[in-house]
Amino acid sequence: MRKKTQLIHGGIFGDEKTGAVSVPIYQVSTFKQDGPGDHRGYEYSRTGNPTRHALEELIKELEEGKRGFAFGSGMAAMTAVMMLLNQGDHVLLTDDVYGGSFRIMTKVLNRFGIEATFVNTSDIHTIEKEIKSNTKALFIESPTNPLLKITDLESVSKIANANGLLTIVDNTFSTPYWQNPLNLGADIVLHSATKYLGGHSDVVAGLVVVNDEKLGNDLHFIQNSTGGVLGPQDSWLLMRGMKTLGIRMEEHEKNTSQIVRFLTEHKEVSKIYYPGLENHPNHDIAKKQSRGFGGMVSFDVGSAEKAERVLEKVKYFTLAESLGAVESLISVPALMTHASIPADRRAELGITDGLIRISVGLEDVEDLVEDLEQALRG
Ligand SMILES: *Cc1c(COP(=O)(O)O)cnc(C)c1O
Repeated sequence: MRKKTQLIHGGIFGDEKTGAVSVPIYQVSTFKQDGPGDHRGYEYSRTGNPTRHALEELIKELEEGKRGFAFGSGMAAMTAVMMLLNQGDHVLLTDDVYGGSFRIMTKVLNRFGIEATFVNTSDIHTIEKEIKSNTKALFIESPTNPLLKITDLESVSKIANANGLLTIVDNTFSTPYWQNPLNLGADIVLHSATKYLGGHSDVVAGLVVVNDEKLGNDLHFIQNSTGGVLGPQDSWLLMRGMKTLGIRMEEHEKNTSQIVRFLTEHKEVSKIYYPGLENHPNHDIAKKQSRGFGGMVSFDVGSAEKAERVLEKVKYFTLAESLGAVESLISVPALMTHASIPADRRAELGITDGLIRISVGLEDVEDLVEDLEQALRG
């Protein structure tokens, strides 16, 4: 099955019993047992729910893994994955990971004795140098947020394998439509399904897929024990959004390439970050490991004042956190999504005050270009 077909026919299609072509919403907490311990596959909805199960089967197939899991948010998904580790373990993470991922490692999981080091994972040698005796996992985001840095997932997985480490990839930006980290050697892939997978800014959810039965059993044990599961309504809503992921991603890609062309020629724009550009430092790796470059673009307008003026003047780019939805969004990472990262660390990473990040939506691209044009005119 190809991807667009899989999005519609993958997982569990409709309802066997009634012929309904959409999976029913099993809004239920518990299930009748025919005798003590004698149930029909479901006992309690934290452990398993048929609507959530359909979603978990779908993401498992899309990421070509062994088992899928749905959580109440991307951060709940990441928390569950980190619970696979033990006190005293060390994790190496991409240095410009999502702000919330940085926060949970440095403000929450550190209190439980899980150590984290943030490194430039685009540079394989840096990773090798930073592996310690207690390192247990590599956590990679690629492309990153907001600088669209790319890590070579195949090379990194090889290093992890050679050193007995788990490779965990946050695949939120690419989605399984464009990139499948498990096929490149990763062990675990996770998503903030709040973004492209849901695609309509109406649901918060997280998904995980693992490539091995033992990891699957361990993660199910954690999911059931810690309980951060996605409810049946939201599971259904997410599946509804995912049916159109393919056509949405194709269209995001088309709109984005036109906007990038416009920005490249604009004199007010000093720097553009987009993996689809040939002058992106890892363009070749992006091309090798992904089928598309995505709909996220960052660009520098030189100063906080100019960035704020652009934000004030745009009509179709909504000022909001988040990304990956039908409507175009705009943000200034230094003031918004990355505000939880200390200022000196932001400067180190290159997240300047004049950096604007856009999530290109599905409006008519001519309107989007005209809108940016008038906003940049100042
Ligand atoms: C949004 C996001 C998260 C967190 O997901 P939530 O659904 O908001 O909890 C994690 N990683 C990336 C790359 C994100 O964009």
